[in-house]
Amino acid sequence: MVSIEHLTFSYDGRPVLNDLSIKIKDGVITTLLGANGCGKTTLLQLMTKNLKPTCGAIKLDGRELKDISVKEFARRAAIVHQKNIAPDDLSVERLVSYGRLPYSSIFRPGLNEENQEQVERALKLTNMDTLRERHVGTLSGGQRQRAFIAMALAQNTRLLFLDEPTTFLDVRYQVEILRLVKTLNKEQGITIVMVLHDINQALTYSDEVIGLHGGKAVLQGAPEDVISTESIRTLYGVELPVFHSGGRLCVMAV
Ligand code: ADP
Repeated sequence: MVSIEHLTFSYDGRPVLNDLSIKIKDGVITTLLGANGCGKTTLLQLMTKNLKPTCGAIKLDGRELKDISVKEFARRAAIVHQKNIAPDDLSVERLVSYGRLPYSSIFRPGLNEENQEQVERALKLTNMDTLRERHVGTLSGGQRQRAFIAMALAQNTRLLFLDEPTTFLDVRYQVEILRLVKTLNKEQGITIVMVLHDINQALTYSDEVIGLHGGKAVLQGAPEDVISTESIRTLYGVELPVFHSGGRLCVMAV
């Protein structure tokens, strides 16, 4: 479990997160919600050791992240960033094999059997095995995103962070990625923490949502329990009807 205790974070003295405390449950999909600039990406970067808290603690299974080495952390948690960069002429299989770096050593360079198996598993889970030889620069947006998710899966972690995994994709590929995320959670038991822009997609695909506002977590719980016209107004400053359709909770985001 990831637990965040009294976390404060400032960029150049300008506070973004202020005395924030939350717990991320194991085995479920948690989505961070909130207006642009409220600190969702910053929080994800803090939870993945890419930024250091100004004050407070972030713990993974009871241990502070600052006491966990980068290599050990990379064996326990993977992140797919909002903007993923790779050379255009890199093959998909090579890209995915970089996910095995936390398991490599200068004494054992190259891919051993376990590493090969994990690369195969990641390619299959993301349906990228038939595209393994393609160069990253030739992939469509949806394929490219699946390739980077495959690289993260090759790390074979119990915890996966995704920062706006559907941005830049049209709706068909957005749904494809979200269904893949659901499958990874349900069938592989991977704990997912993600940032999503689309509130309705967040409500449909998340077991738990956390809403950030004013540097704090102002709501946390199952979407059914915490999403309402009032909470949407608090998070986004806009009045929108919340209703049920076909058994699903929906926000009229128009
Ligand atoms: P969100 O993901 O919710 O849109 P961010 O975490 O990206 O929000 O940003 C939170 C705030 O921190 C914003 O005001 C943003 O301008 C600022 N910010 C983000 N990254 C930096 C940075 N590297 N240096 C200075 N300010 C930053």
